[in-house]
Amino acid sequence: MIVADLHCHSTASDGQLSPEALVERAEQANVELFAITDHDTLAGYLDVAEHYNGPMQLISGIELSSQCLGISMHIVGLNVNVNDVLFQQRLAEQLNSRKERALQIAQKLEKLGLKGVVNFVSDNDERPVSRPDIAHYLVETNQVPSIKRAFDRYLGAGKPGDVKQFWPELDKIVGWIKDAGGVAIIAHPESYSITRTKLRRIIEVFVEAGGDALELPHEAQTADFTRYVAKLCKDYNLQVSVGSDFHSDKQPWRQLGRVPAIPEGVSPVWEGFVQ
Ligand code: AMP
Ligand code: MN
Ligand code: MN
Ligand code: MN
Repeated sequence: MIVADLHCHSTASDGQLSPEALVERAEQANVELFAITDHDTLAGYLDVAEHYNGPMQLISGIELSSQCLGISMHIVGLNVNVNDVLFQQRLAEQLNSRKERALQIAQKLEKLGLKGVVNFVSDNDERPVSRPDIAHYLVETNQVPSIKRAFDRYLGAGKPGDVKQFWPELDKIVGWIKDAGGVAIIAHPESYSITRTKLRRIIEVFVEAGGDALELPHEAQTADFTRYVAKLCKDYNLQVSVGSDFHSDKQPWRQLGRVPAIPEGVSPVWEGFVQ
């Protein structure tokens, strides 16, 4: 089976490594099929794609933010046509939404007594501001003791900084990816803190919209959930994808190239585009 890693982040979003360094690391990890999937931007992929002539097959990729049934859902798009003008316009809209959202998160946090967040967000427009950026700012200014505490208290699922109303509905995001010729994947299905019933309801919306695959949970998750995702794929006739969701060395359980094996009886999403 080919070694694939189809989900990770560069400095074009909230990752620690430049796209070039990320590609080098993936090569060292013996990855053969590789996608950089920055949040709401193709910039990471585009940075390296044009001049890359190494041994891996690079696939275009992005991780788009959406909402469904009141939950923030991440959809990975792979093998999209990066020259599709309509897709580019839609991504520009998405980045604007991210800017407006960052400002709203900042305002909410200031109402809770935190300081300087609005200025931090307004001064930081060289790349899209994400919740981890805000968490770092809060730690650096000694307003919270750790990134974990910033998420647990202010930014994580269901907390005041979990602002999702700016994101398009999930079916719309799947449509953007399909219109651009790509495949759409529900990212890290283990991570949404929802019941299995609710996950199924969301998958039904995803399937109805033309979604293609579910991502397998990363290795640190229980084998039980991995089996459950494989079952969901069979139930809904979906493919599976794999990705480390690598961001930085601070999360040693997410290393480039370290992905689970494809379970029996389900087909990998790259069947359609591997060379
Ligand atoms: P955003 O795109 O602004 O919604 O930020 C989402 C990103 O925040 C995710 O992709 C993760 O990288 C990070 N994240 C989410 N939850 C946590 C958490 N509990 N602790 C640390 N990072 C998190
Ligand atoms: Mn992230
Ligand atoms: Mn994600
Ligand atoms: Mn991700």
